[in-house]
Amino acid sequence: MSVSVRDALRMAGLYLLLSILWLTLSELVLQSMSEDPLALTVGRQINVVVWVLLSALLIFVSRARLLNFIGIGARLRSEDRERLRMAAAVFDSTLEGVLVTDRNGLIVHVNRAFMRITGYQQDEVIGQRPSKFKSGRHGAPFYQQIYAALNAKGEWSGEIWNRRKSGEIYPQWQTICAIRDDSGELSHYVAVFSDISAIKHTEQELAYLAHHDPLTGLPNRLLFNDRAEQALAAAQLNKRGCALLLLDLDHFQSINDGLGHTIGDQLLKLVGERLREVVGNGVTLARLGGDEFGVLAENCQQVGQAGKLAQSIIERLREPFTFDDHRLFISVSIGISLFPSDALSAEQLLRNADSALFKAKSSGRACYALYTEELTAHAQHRVETAGELRRALEQEELRVFFQPVYDLFNAKMIGVEALVRWQHPQRGLVPPGEFIPIAERTGLIAEIDAWVLRQACRQMVQWQQDGRVLAFVAVNISSRLFSQRELYRQVADVLHDTGLDPSLLELEVTESAVMEDPEVALEQLHRLRELGLTLAIDDFGTGYSSLLRLKRLPVQKLKIDQGFVAGLPFDDDDIAIVRVIIALARSMGMQVHAEGIEQAEQARFLLEQQCQLGQGYWFGRPVPAGDLHWG
Ligand code: C2E
Ligand code: MG
Ligand code: MG
Repeated sequence: MSVSVRDALRMAGLYLLLSILWLTLSELVLQSMSEDPLALTVGRQINVVVWVLLSALLIFVSRARLLNFIGIGARLRSEDRERLRMAAAVFDSTLEGVLVTDRNGLIVHVNRAFMRITGYQQDEVIGQRPSKFKSGRHGAPFYQQIYAALNAKGEWSGEIWNRRKSGEIYPQWQTICAIRDDSGELSHYVAVFSDISAIKHTEQELAYLAHHDPLTGLPNRLLFNDRAEQALAAAQLNKRGCALLLLDLDHFQSINDGLGHTIGDQLLKLVGERLREVVGNGVTLARLGGDEFGVLAENCQQVGQAGKLAQSIIERLREPFTFDDHRLFISVSIGISLFPSDALSAEQLLRNADSALFKAKSSGRACYALYTEELTAHAQHRVETAGELRRALEQEELRVFFQPVYDLFNAKMIGVEALVRWQHPQRGLVPPGEFIPIAERTGLIAEIDAWVLRQACRQMVQWQQDGRVLAFVAVNISSRLFSQRELYRQVADVLHDTGLDPSLLELEVTESAVMEDPEVALEQLHRLRELGLTLAIDDFGTGYSSLLRLKRLPVQKLKIDQGFVAGLPFDDDDIAIVRVIIALARSMGMQVHAEGIEQAEQARFLLEQQCQLGQGYWFGRPVPAGDLHWG
């Protein structure tokens, strides 16, 4: 219930009027009723008593209303005080900075958060204009649109850069309201703002993360592509050239598999650092993923320049990486594509560099290759072949051929090497050199090698059962597979499933696969050796074997690469190399096996040098199992 002042006055007026009316009427009635002065006095006294009683009754009846009236003023004042006190507390304790100006834009009030954020004290800003805090980052049109919004809608909010007392500029999220009084006249402006520099920082961090590789801190593929596009546009304008180098660490997977991802990551980080040093400033370097890096050299006019850069990268990465207790040797293959001669778009440039990289990988790795147009055709062929190869496995188009291995001392077949072939429905018999590298790249090699191993073991068991005496069947293991830990399990399974005596199985791993990561190789070879099989190093002499390391390997046989046999018995270099390999093998108690013997003189020379085993067209080409000649 509420009683206004006007109501109260009206009530008091009515009461007075009634009182006067009562007293006047009762006086008139008394005078007309009695002439006796005593009776008149008594009557008047009774009248006053009745008036007092009536007044008391009236006051009693309306007491609630009166009390209410008197009390309400007091209550209103204390509520207002409370409300104001609360408003002030909120105003002062809020985390947002608050700034109030009068209608002329002069600051009349700021809160504590304002002082904390801006560094200004209240007395330093009262009476001043907010333009004092301008950062200089926004032009006049920016402030004009704020005033326009305030005029039109009475409110503006947005991001604004201001300057702290320290001079530092920082971003704010600010809301400004125009305050009008009851009559609609503009009275104040209130600005509420928060310091969003932390959020901005996070945003920047996020943007950085989206464009950089967290491990090496280098730009990622996204940023690399972006920069490449920009560089090409600029190069086109200035009629300059660019070179795109695509780098891939050779056999990095084996480091990851063998030593764990932590070591792999550490190595990648160090590689990133070294690359940064080699390429220097003005060259975009990026980690494109896994062990792949991209280099974009602007102002690279000639092939020679790009080649020089690639060579310096190869040499720098060849130096050992030492960290913790590890000393790792790695190599890198590089594909180069040039703008504008090879491609006009960044995307095509990358694709061409990838083709060139494949060429570098297939020509022995640890080198660079330049893009040529034929590579596109090759790349296309590769993609097609990869698809077909998958089908070939499903449709059983692969075949295992066997090539005899002879004991040169008694000129008898002592073993065979299993060599895979692809019986292509249109292309005929495809040699492994044409599809093994593709299978290695696509990962299909694991299935192929497992299949060949199984077939070879099965065939060997069959020969045993047929009474054909052979000391071993040799099976090639790809370097890709060699670095995988499951290899041991796979081989054990095949031996178990086929029932082949492990001593009749020989696994050939290439020298480069072993030397890529000798520590992993050592462990892997020991495990395989525990199965009871024989281990041979294939294509020996083509890698960069460390003789000391070779000595530690549980290997029983060295296969001299056919490249050295080809020059026998006349080429002095080949003679010297073959002699050294034979002497070396014997000194380490290993058997020596010469590949690619095509002539009788070669076989004779090798026999003279005490090389016990020989293989080559002179003795027999690889043939299906049924076509093998048993002497
Ligand atoms: P490799 O293991 O060194 O095999 C010897 C290669 O030399 C075979 O070629 C063989 O046909 C060839 N060869 C043998 N005697 C002579 C000769 O007197 N003169 C000449 N010019 N060549 C001779 P092929 O079968 O084409 O195999 C090539 C390579 O493919 C093999 O070299 C091996 O590294 C790889 N390979 C073959 N089969 C497999 C397989 O099942 N798995 C894996 N991972 N690789 C395989
Ligand atoms: Mg071989
Ligand atoms: Mg070989």
